[in-house]
Amino acid sequence: MLPEKFVLAERVLQVAPSPTLAVNAKAKALRAAGADILNFSVGEPDLPTPAHVCEAGKQAIDDGYTRYTPVAGIVELREAVCAKLQNDQGWDYAPDQVQVSCGGKHGLYNIFQAILNPGDEVLIPAPYWVSYPPMVQLAGGTPVIVPLKEENNFDFDPATLARYATPKTKAIVLNSPSNPTGAVFSLESLVAVAKMARDHGWLVITDDMYEELYYAEGKVPHILHADPQLKDQVVLSNGVSKSFAMTGWRIGWSVGPIEVIKAMNKIQSQSTSNPAAPSQYAALAALTGPQDFPRLLREAFIPRRAYFVKALESIPGVSCVTPMGAFYVFPNFSAYYGKSFKGQVIDGSVALADYFLGEAKVASVPGAAFGADAFIRFSFATSMERIEKGMERIKQALANLR
Ligand SMILES: *Cc1c(COP(=O)(O)O)cnc(C)c1O
Repeated sequence: MLPEKFVLAERVLQVAPSPTLAVNAKAKALRAAGADILNFSVGEPDLPTPAHVCEAGKQAIDDGYTRYTPVAGIVELREAVCAKLQNDQGWDYAPDQVQVSCGGKHGLYNIFQAILNPGDEVLIPAPYWVSYPPMVQLAGGTPVIVPLKEENNFDFDPATLARYATPKTKAIVLNSPSNPTGAVFSLESLVAVAKMARDHGWLVITDDMYEELYYAEGKVPHILHADPQLKDQVVLSNGVSKSFAMTGWRIGWSVGPIEVIKAMNKIQSQSTSNPAAPSQYAALAALTGPQDFPRLLREAFIPRRAYFVKALESIPGVSCVTPMGAFYVFPNFSAYYGKSFKGQVIDGSVALADYFLGEAKVASVPGAAFGADAFIRFSFATSMERIEKGMERIKQALANLR
């Protein structure tokens, strides 16, 4: 026990731990007690890392790449990131505009640490990825939540966005395809966002983690398609965690204006130093080797996504926007709020997810974690058989509510 008068830092008291991890812990405890839990709460692909990538990681260890690397990451990997951006998008970046970090999450953390002063506001469209608001708070900034509407397919309404902008707005975060909704911003709304960013001098942070997991033709619309001249105000965040099933290797990167990247390197040099050297070589193999893995992931996900959406929409009162990317569905269950089961009232997404876990033995993530209490997130990075079984259980559990 800490001494009685000892207090932890204010900044820690401000933020809540990741709710997705909390659901996982509860599901694990039930499973350990013998329950047959179907887990739809996981945020990672269900395929293993491609073999050639694993081999490159092992080879790096055998070749003695077990020591410090440059703080920003090995130059070969930063060059590979630049080559990818050049080949895929025609965007010109130099390796010193790239920072490799311990996952995309760590890159985003470094960005906010590098740009925010107390009182600075960051626009975060909701539903949002759970980590953005606490990351902004931990950097001393203020998250400003901009609601997106289900009936608008979670796209921007520029007029709404304008209402949340203030003279203190410093940056906006765009995550498209989105975790949790799978929604993609339209080019028209990105044109409007780009204009506002230009007029007000905002930094635009694009979390492109799911760009390879896109279910329509062509490329995901991006703010740099909407306005290529905005490049000096855009920081790209990406990584291999989702597209190459490499969540445990912890490699992501940020690409943007040299001043921002330099500031981030200063922070990284005083915190983690370089990300693990063998992981960097594995990520290099992912970027420079065969590129068919993301396609395999997409092909595995497409039938599951179709089944999931159809099954959800067949439940009375439930609506579900078809995700255009990523591997989550985000159905609206609010028609069931206010109902109850054996005296337990379902007063929101936390209570409903809890009910699903206890009664249906299905683990999911309450929408409240993403700033959208009407919804629940299910991951379809799991087998079709489990999805079918899980949907049957959900239907039954909902039918049991009075
Ligand atoms: C998974 C994820 C990340 C980062 O993942 P890392 O494992 O840290 O590379 C970033 N943004 C979103 C929206 C994600 O879902």
